[in-house]
Amino acid sequence: MKAYIAGVQGISTVDYPKKIASVVFLAGCNFRCRYCFNANILDFKEEFLKDIEFVKKEINKNLPLIDAIVITGGEPCLQKEATIEIAKFGRKKKLLVGIFTNGSFPLILKELIEMRLLDFIAIDVKTILEEKAYENLTNNKIDIEKIKESIELVKRSGIDYELRTTLVPSLVGKKELKLIHEQISPYKTWAWQMFRSDIGDIVDKSLVGKEFSKEEIDEIKSLSKKFENVVIRF
Ligand code: SF4
Repeated sequence: MKAYIAGVQGISTVDYPKKIASVVFLAGCNFRCRYCFNANILDFKEEFLKDIEFVKKEINKNLPLIDAIVITGGEPCLQKEATIEIAKFGRKKKLLVGIFTNGSFPLILKELIEMRLLDFIAIDVKTILEEKAYENLTNNKIDIEKIKESIELVKRSGIDYELRTTLVPSLVGKKELKLIHEQISPYKTWAWQMFRSDIGDIVDKSLVGKEFSKEEIDEIKSLSKKFENVVIRF
């Protein structure tokens, strides 16, 4: 089977909670989040088209060292068959399997859950769960009900999960976080990821150099203490 594969990171200590993982980056995404630092892998370019055996070989190289596989992108649900194949390979090798998704494909997520292929799901809550806000951030027409459906599905799944929001100066800050909190509570874990413009290839170049000030970060930290189960990542 061929798939659009942007790369495999052999060893990561930060992507699967408390485990060492190989991370598979499937190319292609239906969103164009302004802060995304993977702009170069969002299209299904010919150069990414590879046999899925490439992924298996890369994972095999690190098999003695890893506990898990993380399938991310891009948006992995856009390549359902490849995601299933990689997850099944993980199962065969007795590895844990995690997925990172933007939440716009609840039916595919449901299928993966029902096939018992997932042990961890990270699902984005990009901003307040309203179509206009999402469209402004992701440059895409959004059916917000699908995002909500995915979040509820993951919460009910019994599978370990976290909700994830990237905080971006002038786009996603304290005001949005308070509203999101009302919309997503209760939840198990809500990870706040601080935007950094010095890594990767940013979709919206006007964001390059725009970081939160120390004062803003302190305010965000204070806000996090008012909510339950928030982790901040820099
Ligand atoms: S950050 Fe947005 S555009 Fe980038 S891969 Fe994730 S969902 Fe796609």
